[in-house]
Order: sequence, then structure tokens, then C-alpha cells
Amino acid sequence: MMHESVPDAFLATLAAIVGPSGLVTGAELRGRPASWTRPEEPCAAAALVRPRTTQEVSLVLAACHAAGHPVVPRGGCTGLVDGILCNAAEIALSLERMGGIESVDPLAMTMVARAGTTIAMVQDAAQAEGLMFPLDLGARGSATVGGTIATNAGGLRVLRYGMMREMVLGLEAVLADGTVVSSLRPLIKNNTGLDPKHLFLGTEGTLGIVTRAVLRLRPAPAGYATAFLACPGVDAAARVLARTQAAFQGRVSSFEGMWPGYYRLMTEPGRFAPPLPREHPYYALVEIECVPEEEPRIHALLESLMEAGDILDAVLAASEEQRRGLWRIREAVEMLVPAGFGRPFDVSVPLSAMHDYVAAATRAVAAIRPGAGAVAYGHIGDGNIHWNTTPLGDPALEAQVDAAIYGPLTALSGSVSAEHGIGLAKRGKLGLSRSDSEVAVMRAVKQALDPRRILNPGKIFLG
Ligand SMILES: Cc1cc2nc3c(=O)[nH]c(=O)nc-3n(C[C@H](O)[C@H](O)[C@H](O)COP(=O)(O)OP(=O)(O)OC[C@H]3O[C@@H](n4cnc5c(N)ncnc54)[C@H](O)[C@@H]3O)c2cc1C
Repeated sequence: MMHESVPDAFLATLAAIVGPSGLVTGAELRGRPASWTRPEEPCAAAALVRPRTTQEVSLVLAACHAAGHPVVPRGGCTGLVDGILCNAAEIALSLERMGGIESVDPLAMTMVARAGTTIAMVQDAAQAEGLMFPLDLGARGSATVGGTIATNAGGLRVLRYGMMREMVLGLEAVLADGTVVSSLRPLIKNNTGLDPKHLFLGTEGTLGIVTRAVLRLRPAPAGYATAFLACPGVDAAARVLARTQAAFQGRVSSFEGMWPGYYRLMTEPGRFAPPLPREHPYYALVEIECVPEEEPRIHALLESLMEAGDILDAVLAASEEQRRGLWRIREAVEMLVPAGFGRPFDVSVPLSAMHDYVAAATRAVAAIRPGAGAVAYGHIGDGNIHWNTTPLGDPALEAQVDAAIYGPLTALSGSVSAEHGIGLAKRGKLGLSRSDSEVAVMRAVKQALDPRRILNPGKIFLG
């Protein structure tokens, strides 16, 4: 449906619900960036509304539903697929005043957190109880519980603990018409028909606004061993992963890969000191949950993998500071943008197909025009490759880059989005990874829950 622009009288209705300080408009609103990927662009929404309670979210949505005004939820604004982009006929709804941890149950290993709580706060609160919240990502200081649920975020420990979906036991959400759906149960097992919480996991705020969640915590590991490896290629790295998982009974919590273009860029003078020579064909960062007494076993494994030819060189972090230094090379992806690689991609392909896929796509991007390039890295233990390409400033050329990166995925049973979602940025690519019947199911659910299409309209689906 077409949406009308938002009259002042309606903004006054919203201000009456959230209080005058809860409504941001005008210059103050334009001072906020559109998103993490568009720091120079101002937020274009008609207004930004900042409720403090679930009840206020419900009243705001009921009013918007009745008047037909679209609403775009915002968490920490770190999403990478333009999921929070607004236009002047839309109202942005930020959960920034709905942060905080309500309770932690150390015996049941659960936590109730409000949607605006950052992931770093959740991690710290878990750690204070000797526990761990396993979701971890470079954006942890800003990304929120609500945003990571809405995108079903993945990150650095998916290999061992799964994605956000595996860490949410229950949640509370508000539907487009203001109905509050409470599924705040702290149960691991609950086979009682369709579980409504899954409607809000990974659906990018198109079916409801998440307001609270019961999160599953895990025992904190006694320690980590972190190694930076050089390998002859990604296939050898895959063998390293398999052998390490077998030797440490599945306790590999991260296995991150870096193709040489990425590693060389990150270790150029003025960036990070290279822990290993820059001429190797492939690099991997592996982290194992283990106790210090297991270190001799790690050395033995690394030696055996070197003898087999699957590792060419390796460095093992000897301190927490060194461990953090190794991680920075993989995590500091914000440096790719000023380095000229500002277009991010996030795809999945089976591990066995990675070598040929990355080699072919890298060649294809470079052939588009002189100066065009792509660097690849990612959570390769999960089959997840991130690409960053040089912006070419011409839609026709960018379409060629997209074709080089997305084109081969359907035949490989890959995905155009491993973990970032679809948003606006990839909605034209949904059909490469989802069949017509799958999209029809998504549309039927959207129609049932948001018939007036006021929740994050235009995201995920074209039209
Ligand atoms: C440096 C960096 C590293 C990153 N690393 C990773 C990574 O390793 N793995 C990964 O998966 N992602 C990663 N991301 C992407 C991003 O952090 C995740 O998508 C994250 O889940 C977004 O959370 P957010 O709170 O910032 O949500 P936002 O960006 O504010 O919103 C994301 C989407 O969720 C919706 N939304 C937000 N809050 C709610 C809510 N309460 N209810 C309903 N819908 C809502 C929005 O409308 C939007 O569609 C990274 C981003 C950066 C900048």
C-alpha cells in the first residue's frame, strides 16, 4: 500500500505516548546517521520515536497501524544491509531507551534482557556470574539484543554455539497492530506446536518489534588457545579444522579464514604488524576452548599438521594481549572502507567449493575494469565468506561485481546472505537463495501478521 506523509497532529499523538523527550525530529534527527554503512547520510525519517516500555511500543504501533504510518525499528544501527533505512513517510522506532538486564539466573543459566541492551553488556553480565553469552561479533559494543534477534546474527563462535536463534529461549514482541505476544519462557524444551519466537528471529523487524528476550547462557570456558596459521590454501585449512575438532572433541570455538589480499591489506605498514610473513597463500585464525595444561597437545597437533603439509607456519598467542592482537587483524574490518574496499558482501558456500569459487570471483571482479578488486575473509568454519569490493561508482559496473559474487551461488547451493540478512540492499537477490514456494510462505506470514504493511516495509521483499 502507499503511505501518506506524516502530519504534525500525528507526531503530537506519538509525543503524548512517549513523552516530549521520546520524540526526535528536525535538526536533531538529521544529526543522526542513516546507518553504520552510511555515516555521511542523515536519517531521513519523518520522526524518531523512543519508547521506554513494551506498553509504549504497543501504543505507538497501534496508533501507526490505525493511521497507516510505516514504522522502521532501529537497534544499535550496525546492520550491513540497509535494514534500518527510512524515507520521509516513515517513522523510525529506536529501542535505545529500552536497554538493561532484568535478571540473571545462574543455576538455570538464563538471562532476561531488554531489546536495547548491547551484546557487550549481556556478555559482561554473564561473565560477572562466571558464565558466558556466546554470541560475539565485532559490533558487540553497539549491536543490541533486539537487532541481533531480528537479523539472527552469527559472528565468531557459531561453529560451537550456533547463531542467535540457538541462544534465545523466549521473547516478547509487539505485532503491527500493537498486540503484545509474550513468549518469555526460560525453557530449553517446549514442543507445543509452532513456536512464535521463531517468527521474529531473522525476519528483520518485518513481523514485529522485539522488546525483551530470555537468553541462554553457557559455562565460561576455562581458557583459550589461539593460533594464527599460514596454510597452502583453504582446502588445507579445512583439513586443519577437521583434525583440530577431532583432537579437541569439538571445542574449536572459532575458525576464521583470510585470503592473501585481505591479510596483506591489513598488515600494510601503518596498520597491523604481520604475525606471519605476508607471502603465504592462505591464513586462518583458530581458537580452541582449553585449559593451559593442554598446551603440549596443541604443539603436538600443530607439528603433526606441519609434517602433513597442511600448515606452513604458525604462531600461538602467549598472552591475552597477543590473543587480542591476532584477533584485531581479523576483526578490524572497518579499516577496509578507508582502504578503498567499501562494498561488503556476506555469502555462504560449502567449504569444499570455497577455493574454486573465491579464485573465480576474485578474477572476475578484477577483470571488470582496472582498479576493481575484491578481498575475501570470513567465518570459514561456518562456510561463510565476507567479501569487500572497491566501490566503482557506476550501477552497471556494480551489477557486474554482484554477478561475479552472487552468480555462482545458486549452482553451489550457497546463500546470498549467510548472516547479515536481506534488508534493502539484497532484496533483489532473494530469489537466488530462496525458491518461489519459500518466498510465497514468507509473504503469507507477512500478510497474516502485518496486512497493512506498516512494519519495515520494502525490506526483504521487492514490492
Ligand atoms: C564491525 C561490524 C562487525 C559485524 N560483524 C558481524 C558478524 O560477525 N556477524 C553478524 O551476524 N553480523 C555482524 N555485523 C552486522 C550487525 O552487527 C548485525 O546485523 C547485528 O545483529 C545488528 O544489530 P543492531 O542492534 O545494530 O541492529 P540494527 O542495525 O539497528 O537493525 C538491524 C535490523 O534489525 C531490525 N531491528 C532492530 N532492532 C529490532 C527490534 N528490537 N525488533 C525488531 N526488529 C529490530 C532493524 O529494523 C533492521 O532490519 C557486523 C557489523 C559491524 C559494523
